[in-house]
Amino acid sequence: MAEEKAKPRMPIESGCPDGFQYMHPTMLKNYGNWDYHEHLRPGVLKHVAKSGDELYTVKVGTQRQLGPYEINLLCDIIDQYADGHVRFTLRGTMEIPVADADRVDALVEAVTDAGYPIGGTANSVTFISHTQGWLHCDIPGTDASGVVKSLMDELYHEFTHEEMPNRVHITTSCCQINCGGQGDIAINVQHTKPPKINHDLVSNVCERPTVVARCPVAAIRPAMVNGRPSLEVDEKKCICCGACFPPCPPMQINDPEHSKIAIWVGGKNSNARSKPMFHKLVAAGIPNNAPRWPEAAEVVKKILACYKEDAKDWERMGDWIERIGWPRFFEMTELPFTRFHIDNWRGARHTLNASAHIRF
Ligand code: SF4
Ligand code: SF4
Repeated sequence: MAEEKAKPRMPIESGCPDGFQYMHPTMLKNYGNWDYHEHLRPGVLKHVAKSGDELYTVKVGTQRQLGPYEINLLCDIIDQYADGHVRFTLRGTMEIPVADADRVDALVEAVTDAGYPIGGTANSVTFISHTQGWLHCDIPGTDASGVVKSLMDELYHEFTHEEMPNRVHITTSCCQINCGGQGDIAINVQHTKPPKINHDLVSNVCERPTVVARCPVAAIRPAMVNGRPSLEVDEKKCICCGACFPPCPPMQINDPEHSKIAIWVGGKNSNARSKPMFHKLVAAGIPNNAPRWPEAAEVVKKILACYKEDAKDWERMGDWIERIGWPRFFEMTELPFTRFHIDNWRGARHTLNASAHIRF
């Protein structure tokens, strides 16, 4: 017993596997010893190590949801024209490393012939990131991956060319409360009506205290309806966030008409040149119009066109707006300025966490 106490059970590590086993041999050999890199053309980088070794990287955009056909096709190209190694970036682009400069052109040609764009480096619209959408998650109000695929088709030129003042990160999020992220442009779902409660199901499906505790504005109360335990929502307080739906699906908030899309701009995570910024709402009530979301794409393209035209070199979207001011932004983009743009929510505080520090 005493011996058992002296040796505490070790934690089980269950993170991602060790990446070194999959690395390109040139990367492994020169790990931590890279000297400089050059940007040869959109989507192609050259890294030079202190040892003199060179490694070329070709960045490939995909349709994001890859099936066995696409994976086999791309893997065959990588085996034949590169060195059999590939990695996926945080935003889901494929980066194919190849050590021999003479093989880069043939690789680019093979990938392009297969219908995949090369780009997403430097001052381009990088690969658009999205949350999981209808494919994997149980609470989305829209299909984030579908919005992204439609937008990527529209912004193909901006991915393969580097004509923006700085990098543009676009994100989409299919609910308002969980994944998501700050983006130069963010496309987020926006519920506009409080949840409708199916009282017949609540007592069988939901843990009522859990649901009550979930609401950020204390709008949910336990209630007896038709003699059965259920819940009620104070609709004056409800901010239509959707947080009650995951623990209690009978509180249906998705609605084909009233769940809309909102567009936010100017967010960034990096500390480069200016501090990290929260994105701000600029367009609300855009139809959640599957399968191509043309109205959302129009707004995004309009904002991008103004930014491309007017921002100075190296200004990120938020820096540009700070310089020209919000009135000028709305004037240029011709987006209507409405009462929804004024943040007077009583729960908003000046102390919102805007730094990288975690506070409890
Ligand atoms: S953003 Fe919300 S709905 Fe979309 S995948 Fe994340 S948790 Fe699910
Ligand atoms: S939608 Fe959000 S604010 Fe409204 S009742 Fe549900 S958890 Fe509360």
